[in-house]
Amino acid sequence: MLNKEFLDTLTPVEIQMVHQYINILFKNKITSSTANYENLETSVDECPYCHCKHIVRNGHNNKTGRQRYLCKNKECGHTFEATTNTFFSHSKAKYQTWLTFIGCEVVGLSLRQESVITGVSVTGCFNMRHKLYNALRDYQQSQKLKGTCEVDATYVPINLKGWNPDDMPRFSKRRGKHKPDSQHPNLRGISHHKICIVSAVDEYDHILFRIAGLGQETFEMYNKFKDHFSEKCMIVADSKPCIAEFASANHLEADIIPSGEFKSPKLNTLAALNQLHQEFSELIRRKHGVGTRHLQGYIDWLVMTKRLRYRTDAKKMNTEIYMNIMKNSVNWTTDDICHIPMPIDLDEAYYEFMTDVNQLHQHIS
Ligand SMILES: [Zn+2]
Repeated sequence: MLNKEFLDTLTPVEIQMVHQYINILFKNKITSSTANYENLETSVDECPYCHCKHIVRNGHNNKTGRQRYLCKNKECGHTFEATTNTFFSHSKAKYQTWLTFIGCEVVGLSLRQESVITGVSVTGCFNMRHKLYNALRDYQQSQKLKGTCEVDATYVPINLKGWNPDDMPRFSKRRGKHKPDSQHPNLRGISHHKICIVSAVDEYDHILFRIAGLGQETFEMYNKFKDHFSEKCMIVADSKPCIAEFASANHLEADIIPSGEFKSPKLNTLAALNQLHQEFSELIRRKHGVGTRHLQGYIDWLVMTKRLRYRTDAKKMNTEIYMNIMKNSVNWTTDDICHIPMPIDLDEAYYEFMTDVNQLHQHIS
């Protein structure tokens, strides 16, 4: 086993030999044609369909020569390969392309820039991006908030980027000054046109950052995520009744910052959370707005990379992310990306326009 203890026993000249040997391996094994399959082929230990461990080797794929397996579970009986139902099952991009792409995402490049660097088309990069983000969908679930925990909400407007105009549930916004009439009632500043994102950061930098619903934050929105908080959390928040209610309903200690002040009685602030909100609005600005359908994906990516930055060298970030996602099951074709369910109910958001839209449709037909 090549571990640190073993390496510590080596003399300088032996280490030099190992180093040269690894360099040769590196040059031979990692080339532009290295497939993702090669990272997975030695670690097949269960059926990707039923997770049964009783699997046998079952010949090779005629075209690619890759090892095939058969599941011996009588109710399943699927044949599969190392990449089946993993992150790479529908991906043509090679190992190096994925590493480069992940690096581009870490520094926040645009799809056009990523396309130039990776040689993949802009659409291909779009698909890779959302596949990557989707692989992180359970990342926040695995983080339980502990200790002192700053809690607050932030808001973004609904964004229908990428929607077919015929499916739009609202009229286009009219710019400039205009008088409200029956078709364009004055509905400025309606609160349920904004998306509420509940957020929390604890003293160990665990993060909760999830879309909670439409309109002003409520007790129910916070309570949806109560499982993210461990029993001994202390909630630090502004003096909002819904957060105090959330804390008391879940028997959590609360340290409330009085209105008009920056510090709580126990001298806590919302500084870490405000920093996160700032990074979030910076991300939205840099992307020129993010479609609501993909919003949680962008948030998950922000949360994951922020966590990773605390403990990983910039050089290693892409390989670390690659290792995190490679066994993750994203059984996705590119077609599914445009059909991610909306995280909010558009009918609820735009109900006051709905009668008008119906009238309009009648008028057209
Ligand atoms: Zn099976």
